[in-house]
Amino acid sequence: EDIEEESKWKEWELKKFQEFRFEIDFTSSVIIKLTKGTAEIFGAELAIGIEYEIRGQKVAVFTWHGCTFEIKGKCDVEYIADETPMMSYLNTHMAIEQMRCKIEKEGGNEPRVMIVGPPDVGKTTLSKILINYAVKHGRTPLFVDINPSEGTVTIPSTLTATVIDKPIDIEEQLSVLPAKSSMAPLTYFFGYLQSANKLKLYNKLLDKLSETIQKKMDKDSVVRYSGLIISTPNDLSNNSNWDMFTSVIEKFRVNVVIVVGHERLYSDINKFYQDNNEIAVVKLTKSGGVVNRDSSYRRIIQNYKIKEYFYGTHKCELAPYSVIVSFSDIYIRTIEQGIAPSSALPIGMERKVQETRLVNVEPSEDLVNSILALTNVDVKETENDDEEDDILIGTKLLGFVHVTNVDVEKKKITLLCPCHGRIPKKYMLLADLKWIET
Ligand code: ATP
Repeated sequence: EDIEEESKWKEWELKKFQEFRFEIDFTSSVIIKLTKGTAEIFGAELAIGIEYEIRGQKVAVFTWHGCTFEIKGKCDVEYIADETPMMSYLNTHMAIEQMRCKIEKEGGNEPRVMIVGPPDVGKTTLSKILINYAVKHGRTPLFVDINPSEGTVTIPSTLTATVIDKPIDIEEQLSVLPAKSSMAPLTYFFGYLQSANKLKLYNKLLDKLSETIQKKMDKDSVVRYSGLIISTPNDLSNNSNWDMFTSVIEKFRVNVVIVVGHERLYSDINKFYQDNNEIAVVKLTKSGGVVNRDSSYRRIIQNYKIKEYFYGTHKCELAPYSVIVSFSDIYIRTIEQGIAPSSALPIGMERKVQETRLVNVEPSEDLVNSILALTNVDVKETENDDEEDDILIGTKLLGFVHVTNVDVEKKKITLLCPCHGRIPKKYMLLADLKWIET
C-alpha cells in the first residue's frame, strides 16, 4: 500500500509568500514538479513541467505569487508555513544590488558581504539565496566559503572561492561537481573540520585566499562589481574568536556584515563598528524552517560530500578508479604548526618565526582511509626551505585522492582517484581528514 501511495502524484497549492518545507534523507528521493505559477527553492526558480529529483535535502519551495506543484514520493517532514523572512532577504539583496549598480555608474565599492551567526540559523541558505538573486540580475558573484566543517563546492576541510554564473542546481545544490560554474573553484586545503584546531594555518590560508581573490577582482571587473558573498563557520563570531572575526573582515575588506538570528551578536558588532562608516551591519531573522542538525547528522553530510567527490551525484555519476603506487613515487607532506623557541636563541639574534612548517610523511598503515590533497607543486630533489614551504601551503589543488590500502611489506599504496591518469610527480598534503567508504 505504501509503495502504491509513493508512486502517486500529490498536489499542493501555495498562496503568495507561503513556503512548503520538506525533508528527505539520503537513501530516498522525491520528485517535484511545478504545474502552475512561480516558485523557487532558496532563490533558484523551478521551471514549469520539469521533474526535479530531490534527495538528502531539507529545503523549502517558496512562492512570491502563488503556485501549484506536485510531489511523488515520501517526505520525512512536510508542511506549509505562512511566515518566512524572505521579504527581508529580498530587500537585503536589493540593497546589495544597488551597490553594484552604483559602482557601474559612479564608482564606489563592490559589495563584500559576510554572513555570520550561531549554528543552524540558515547562513549557508542565505548565501544561496543571495547568490541566486544576484545571478538572476546577471551578476557573477564570488562565493567564498571559509567554513571548513561542511564543504559546499568541494569536500569539507577546505577553503574555497567560486565564481557562480548560473543559478544553483535545484537537485544537486552546491555540489562538488565542476559543472556548477564555468570556472573550477579555487580550493585551499586546510585539512581540519574546525578552524580552531589550527588557527595559525587557518589564518595563513585566509591570507592566501583573500590575496588571490583580490587579484581575480583586479583583473575581472565583472566579477568585482558582483562582489563577494562570504559564508563563515558558526564559531567565527562567538566571543572567544573576536580577533579572528575582525581579521576576516579586514582581510576580505568586508563592507556588509549580515548577522542572522542573534540580537546580542548584532548589537556587539554594530557597537564595535559604529564609528566605521565603511562597514554596514545588518540584522536578519532566522527562518522558522531552518533545521537543527546534530553532530551525527553533520558527520553524515560530511561523508556524503566526500563520497560525492569520488562517485558523483545521482544525477551525474562518476566512476573513480584505483591505482597502486610505490612508496618511492609519492611525496606526502603534512603541515605542522611550528613553535619558535626564540628564547633559546642568543640575544640579538632574530629568527624568522615559522608559524607553519612542512614535515615529510613516510607511508604507513596509519594512512589508510586518509584523504590526501594533490597539490600543483612539482617535487624538487632539494630540501625544502621556508619559501618552498610557503608555496606548498598556499598552493591551489589539483584534486583529492583517498588511501584505500597500504602494503608496508611490498611498499605499495592503493589510492582511489576521481578520474583516470597517472598520479603526477607532485607533492600531496596530509591532514586530519579520514573517510571510510560505506
Ligand atoms: P551551520 O553554520 O551551523 O553549519 P547554517 O546557519 O549555515 O548552519 P543552513 O545550513 O543554512 O544553516 O541550514 C540548516 C539546514 O536547514 C539546512 O539543511 C538547510 O537546507 C535547512 N533549511 C534552511 N532554511 C530552510 C527552510 N526555510 N525550510 C526548510 N529547510 C531549511
